[in-house]
Amino acid sequence: MEEEKNPKKPLIFYYIISLIAILLLNAIVVPAVMRKRVTEVDYGQFLNAIERGRVRRVEVDETQTHILFVAEDEAGTEKVYTTAAMNDPDLVNRLYNSSTNISFTRVVPKQNSPLLSLLLTWIIPILIFWGLGQLLARQLQNRMGNVMAFGKSNAKIYVEEAQVGKTFADVAGQDEAKEALTEIVDFLHDPEKYTAIGATLPKGALLVGPPGTGKTLLAQAVAGEAKVPFFSISGSEFVEMFVGMGAAKVRDLFKQANEKAPCIVFIDEIDTIGKKRGDGAFGGHDEREQTLNQLLTEMDGFDARKGVVILAATNRPESLDKALLRPGRFDRRIPVELPDLNGREAILKVHAKKVKLEGDIDFTAIARATAGASGADLANIVNEAALRAVRENRTAVSQRDLEESIEVIVAGYERKNAAISPKEKEIIAYHEIGHALVAAKQTESAPVHKITIVPRTSGALGYTMQVDVDERNLMSKEEAFSRIATLTGGRAAEQLIFNSITTGAANDIEQATRIARAMVTRFGMSDVFGMTALETVTNQYLGGDTSLACSAETAAKIDEEVIGLIKSAHERAISILKDNMDKLHELAQYLLDKETISGEEFMEILNR
Ligand code: ADP
Ligand code: MG
Ligand code: ZN
Repeated sequence: MEEEKNPKKPLIFYYIISLIAILLLNAIVVPAVMRKRVTEVDYGQFLNAIERGRVRRVEVDETQTHILFVAEDEAGTEKVYTTAAMNDPDLVNRLYNSSTNISFTRVVPKQNSPLLSLLLTWIIPILIFWGLGQLLARQLQNRMGNVMAFGKSNAKIYVEEAQVGKTFADVAGQDEAKEALTEIVDFLHDPEKYTAIGATLPKGALLVGPPGTGKTLLAQAVAGEAKVPFFSISGSEFVEMFVGMGAAKVRDLFKQANEKAPCIVFIDEIDTIGKKRGDGAFGGHDEREQTLNQLLTEMDGFDARKGVVILAATNRPESLDKALLRPGRFDRRIPVELPDLNGREAILKVHAKKVKLEGDIDFTAIARATAGASGADLANIVNEAALRAVRENRTAVSQRDLEESIEVIVAGYERKNAAISPKEKEIIAYHEIGHALVAAKQTESAPVHKITIVPRTSGALGYTMQVDVDERNLMSKEEAFSRIATLTGGRAAEQLIFNSITTGAANDIEQATRIARAMVTRFGMSDVFGMTALETVTNQYLGGDTSLACSAETAAKIDEEVIGLIKSAHERAISILKDNMDKLHELAQYLLDKETISGEEFMEILNR
């Protein structure tokens, strides 16, 4: 069906038109009728009016039952009156003799032509209703446009680089991913090179990785580099209200792609349609399955040598249907992981090009302080820094801006006017120094970078930042245990100094428990269970949720083991603090005074 070019005027437009029409009718027609309003008077008044010379015109109708006359009232305005016609032989004389010039006529009532009345009472209303009906039908059609354009895919087509304007130069780090994609770009440029030797390129490549690592960006860069038509569609766009339409869209997308080959089809967030079949909990998974089946069929059906390459991106690869991943479909999997130290530095530099920088900036330091940040986080940090510079009326971004914006991303903005009593401030200062001291006195933990007790909008009342000198890829059992001890250090200091405990350690407790659990159930770091996997990660890239894979008895033992681990780490923290009581006091007082201290200041006092 031909898709209609619909103007898409909102319904309100028609309402307004009708409203105006009604108002116009009211303003023009009704007063005209009103003016003609006829007042009924008795015959005496009529005679009276003749005598006073007020009557201007008289009409007597054929049946002689009514007289219609125009007369002036007291104010001198002419009005129409009617009166019952008496059998008055004198009337004509009376009128004739009247001092004023009365024109009097006998009228034959207008015989409405039957055609006209038919027109007025039937044809016009019907025409109006028909017109309204048409209008409504048009409206409905516009609204349900999807139904009419059954199965049209609304894939955006980028044909030229200029339309997206992204190239591989915009993607920093991710060298392996770029390399894998470069091959695809090269194939699309020069397919003969590959077919001559008999090589076929994978039909599809799946970009997998945590959110914000640049998967969508990479696909756009491929479009920019390949200079072939690029169909981009998000998985959620296949999810339709009506069964069968998602499948029809897939069909249409591939039909278009086949016509435009060589080209690239990019399906973003493919997990929306590519979920494992049969685990749809309720409602509408039939539709999703149909869509997925259609996608599988289409992927089998076309010839890769024609040069249609399918890219897809997801951050939940484990939820994808296995059929999608088998050879011949998305057989190439391109990991797009969180950037390492060098990657972060490169990404920072790419984004820093867009802002004005003050002097030379030490990007390595920023990259070091942002372990675990994604490309999107880093882009955000650079932008936050620029905003901060503007806020402070400066024209360029400084190192301080960047450092401060890391904290904004991690912990939120400073809450300068938060109401915190001196007593609470003191507790917070000891808590943070507790963390820092325990960290500093253990050989296996990262150096303290900064300690602050300025509250943040994230709810943190203070924090201790540790920054590793090198990129860490592995964590030893001793390191993991040190981290737990460091996390318990805050609470330990509160206990030792104030002999009471506060809710301030809630976040520490959560983190410590997570590490301890992982040590026992996933890292094989407990003596009791050894190298047994007791939990499986269900959501590798999104928060790393886990689910237990063991019996209830084992679960109980795991809990015991976790509790034991944390207890002994806590004990270690307490003993470290006891041994360094004077330093704890000295540093806490110093922090209370300064509110924020650097790692160097901290070490200087500690080693004094
Ligand atoms: P994803 O699709 O993996 O969730 P995006 O591709 O949408 O992430 O990335 C979001 C933004 O983060 C990008 O627009 C870009 O500004 C920034 N970004 C992410 N990774 C990189 C990178 N490797 N190089 C440069 N910028 C990046
Ligand atoms: Mg994306
Ligand atoms: Zn704490």
